[in-house]
Amino acid sequence: METIHIQTKSKDYPLFIGNGIRHDANSFINSLGKNYSSYLIITDSAVENLYLQDVVNGLKTDNVFTHIVPSGEQAKSIDHYYECLTKALESGLDRKSCIIALGGGVVGDLAGFVAATYMRGIAFIQMPTTLLAHDSSVGGKVAINHPLGKNMIGAFYQPDAVIYDVETLQSLNDTEWRSGFAEVIKHALIWDEQLFNEVRNIRSIEQLKQSDLISILKRAINVKAEIVAKDEKESNIRSYLNFGHTLGHAIEAELGYGKISHGEAVAIGMIFAMKLSERHYQIDLNIDAYETWFQSLGFQTTVPANLTAEKLIDTMKKDKKAAHGKIKMILIKKIGKVEAVSFEEAALHQFLKNEIERKMENA
Ligand code: NAD
Repeated sequence: METIHIQTKSKDYPLFIGNGIRHDANSFINSLGKNYSSYLIITDSAVENLYLQDVVNGLKTDNVFTHIVPSGEQAKSIDHYYECLTKALESGLDRKSCIIALGGGVVGDLAGFVAATYMRGIAFIQMPTTLLAHDSSVGGKVAINHPLGKNMIGAFYQPDAVIYDVETLQSLNDTEWRSGFAEVIKHALIWDEQLFNEVRNIRSIEQLKQSDLISILKRAINVKAEIVAKDEKESNIRSYLNFGHTLGHAIEAELGYGKISHGEAVAIGMIFAMKLSERHYQIDLNIDAYETWFQSLGFQTTVPANLTAEKLIDTMKKDKKAAHGKIKMILIKKIGKVEAVSFEEAALHQFLKNEIERKMENA
């Protein structure tokens, strides 16, 4: 087991990472010295069957309540959020209670937002169970979705701790491994050349499963930690974490959530952002090599055929990061060197349209 110290302007907290540590949640929580009065574990229906009992046993107290939400993005709705609050009230949670988010990014975002708003904010602990959640469990962004936009109702609210049992990743399906790996690759590309050199040799999901996950995850988490330490509320460099996400989010929204995983959409967005970077900076990033690598991992690298540039740009304009009619894209000059560049809608639209048409010609 190893500890990473997450430091943000509003709060410092430990992230414990190791194999099998869910069984020992009690000792990690005791080390925080908080003395919570009770716990509400929020998890989803898939994770419930796999790990809920282990965590309940590991807490070694009777004051534990549990609440199960459906598996998948649908759980980040106002109705499920409200049900969580009802469960918290019915269970008599008080201001000294602690909410535990046991699951992937969906449960982390939902349970974190419940914790941020219940009685004006109570403690919460992240217990991530997906590869992607190495990213989402750190940094304190918590949110639910509105039918008109993803993550539109939320807060910046840091947990008291993150307890990351990497053993739980072994039950993920390949799609979820791939989705999470896209965020690892993103962390490497935007910030950490050494991590990039480590992960670029992973050329299949099978190889990823057998890699030294703790070492890779520690580095990827450190990228996120360094960025949020400098800019907790996304006034400047935190936006680098959106590399691949402006188009990625639009693809997810246009296809319908659940039709493509978050990371798979981000992978398409990263390739697009690299192409845009080549054009903007007049440089050669050797994108063919990235596309071949991504494809060997099972990623699509081009915009799905049924989506149009018009629709995607329309959705990108509604992104929280768009401002003054311009669309902000994170561009890359070389590994570890990115910056935010604002584009006029028409210019970005033309570039995206050309990319989509070029793909159709090559098909
Ligand atoms: P998820 O939470 O839906 O998990 C993916 C699937 O895997 C679900 O079906 C889940 O039931 C299942 N699952 C979870 N753990 C499992 C395990 N150990 N074994 C088997 N199955 C398991 O999705 P995700 O990819 O983890 O997270 C995506 C969400 O994270 C999105 O809503 C996105 O907006 C959010 N996100 C938030 C941040 C942030 O900073 N807060 C960052 C990135 C993404």
